[in-house]
Amino acid sequence: MKTSTTKIDIQKASRSKIKNVDFNNLSFGQVFTDHMMVCDYKDGMWQTPTIKPYGPFELDPSAKVFHYGQAVFEGMKAFKDEKDQIWLFRPEKNFERINKSSERLAIPAFPRDYFFTAMEELLKLEREWIKKGFGNSLYVRPFVIATEAGVSAAPAKEYKFMIICSPAQAYYSGEVRVQISEKFSRAADGGVGFAKAAGNYAAQFYPTNLAKDEGFQQIVWTDASTHEYLEEAGTMNVFFRVGDKLLTAPTNDRILNGVTRDSVISLAKEYNIDLEIRRVSVKEIIEAAKSGELKEMFGSGTATVINPISGFGYAGEKYELPKLEDSYARFFKDKLTKIQYNQAEDKFGWRY
Ligand code: PMP
Repeated sequence: MKTSTTKIDIQKASRSKIKNVDFNNLSFGQVFTDHMMVCDYKDGMWQTPTIKPYGPFELDPSAKVFHYGQAVFEGMKAFKDEKDQIWLFRPEKNFERINKSSERLAIPAFPRDYFFTAMEELLKLEREWIKKGFGNSLYVRPFVIATEAGVSAAPAKEYKFMIICSPAQAYYSGEVRVQISEKFSRAADGGVGFAKAAGNYAAQFYPTNLAKDEGFQQIVWTDASTHEYLEEAGTMNVFFRVGDKLLTAPTNDRILNGVTRDSVISLAKEYNIDLEIRRVSVKEIIEAAKSGELKEMFGSGTATVINPISGFGYAGEKYELPKLEDSYARFFKDKLTKIQYNQAEDKFGWRY
């Protein structure tokens, strides 16, 4: 890969918007910090990354991203500990994943040193936006879009890699109820399900709206060919506790390889929790729910870390899950957040 230079151009905002922000009343992803990172790809190479004041920019109406959806993104979080040190959680995974997503959408890979140098410079500028305390964080959103003008259906020759940041607050995610999909699919074999491609999310909105009308917040997707096996939810991977056994689906080309999922798996092994990574059928979960063996379901993802699921729907029936004192969901959330906020030993080397 040809790279031009590791130098970063920094144009600081003339004044900060931070005073206008109520950090106790943040809605997720609505407020953005003072700066953004922009790096253009043209003439076959990524140009000098630039950090500049956050704001709108112009694109040609024929830019390929608008027509053919060549767009991928990532989501990660920065945390501040009691000593005002700033930590990212496993950013190497997000870096690897965005390039994997890019490869699948015929977007050129982004250089590692650009990613980490730009991210560090940006976070240094925005450190006041990262508040201390459990639950507070800065959500970091890297993304790539095809900017080349022209509606010929071919991969673009010009792109923008950008990073924007949004302060996030501890939020109670509430009772999450999920619907198990019987008809719609999120991803197909040989498709782009494993990639964080923008279009995967667009395609989920309509079926999710139908599920919402029936009182569910998210859909748990099933495999596209048989709809017999459980895969993942809209923005999280899913775990099932049957008795004391923890189950989750293996990743494949339909499922996003979640960083939180991977971390839960490592913790389960560390704490000798009986874990099986294998296909989980709808049938076995329904039977376990009926017999009382299904103790818990939870989702894992960067936004909420671990999200307990209080019930699910399938084929017109609703199933409720018990409320447990000693839930695995609470156990993993506690372990993960303590590592993220530098309040526990980092055995796995996850903090950056
Ligand atoms: N599945 C999907 C479809 C997602 O969008 C996300 C959020 N990135 C996840 C799972 C969870 O992944 P992670 O733990 O890396 O946030």
